[in-house]
Amino acid sequence: MSLRIGTAGIPQSVKTRSTENGIKRLAELGLGCMEVEFVRSVQMKEPKAQKVKEVAEQEDIQLTVHAPYYVNLNSREAEKVTASKERVLQAARIGWAAGAHSVTFHAAFYHDDDHEDVWQRVLQELREMRTRMDDEGIGLDLRPETTGSPTQFGTVPEILRLAQEIPGVYPCVDFSHLHARTNGQYNTYEEFAEVLDSIKTELGSSALQRMHMHLSGIDYGPKGEKKHLVLPDADMNYEAVLQALLDYDVGGWLICESPVLEDDALILQETYQRLQQETSRKS
Ligand SMILES: [Zn+2]
Repeated sequence: MSLRIGTAGIPQSVKTRSTENGIKRLAELGLGCMEVEFVRSVQMKEPKAQKVKEVAEQEDIQLTVHAPYYVNLNSREAEKVTASKERVLQAARIGWAAGAHSVTFHAAFYHDDDHEDVWQRVLQELREMRTRMDDEGIGLDLRPETTGSPTQFGTVPEILRLAQEIPGVYPCVDFSHLHARTNGQYNTYEEFAEVLDSIKTELGSSALQRMHMHLSGIDYGPKGEKKHLVLPDADMNYEAVLQALLDYDVGGWLICESPVLEDDALILQETYQRLQQETSRKS
């Protein structure tokens, strides 16, 4: 599949805010996808999700879903783990009804636990979540995200190992989070290429043809992510990310979480198209 670029949620230039109007606006702008943001809670019901699916198909806008932030598969409290899994599953159910392809979420916090123990625990909970999705016939990809703070579970190797273990689990790569959690690393072509290389090695090139990714400007410090910034104000080397995506023939969905969603998504798309032309001229 080709690479589609779009926004995390409804574009700001939509006058009457609704998911359907957001999809129509993205089609007008010439963008290719939208992430449905259930980051506080999943308010959407099935009938509405079915309408969203119809509009998305009409307008040729593909959808992904972001599950609520209140998820911690490594909570000390069993009921919080159960509630976390239910939140992601509900986002997956409604996303599936809306025709979305992928659901992403932040899996856990380390607390003071050994990182390998946390990984084992996340593996176990994720296996159960995937089984429940399969039992219910929810066919979208389940994708733990690379996270923006060193206190959060979610390095590239951790996520790739989960994807190797559980069929139907894949990575969601947030390039800005990688940059923020390492206080400024992951900002060169070589580092981005290394991430894509490791995905190819661990999961095969089919994983690169169907990637769920996030990219925006970001402010960060020693504790990782502070807030998202507009691309022109940030040090994020998005051009190097896009060049690596081109060189590795990456397809799927690249979601922009900028404070000015569609403006920055369009910057990403225009830059990608320019690099594409330059690359094809060279070869
Ligand atoms: Zn996220």
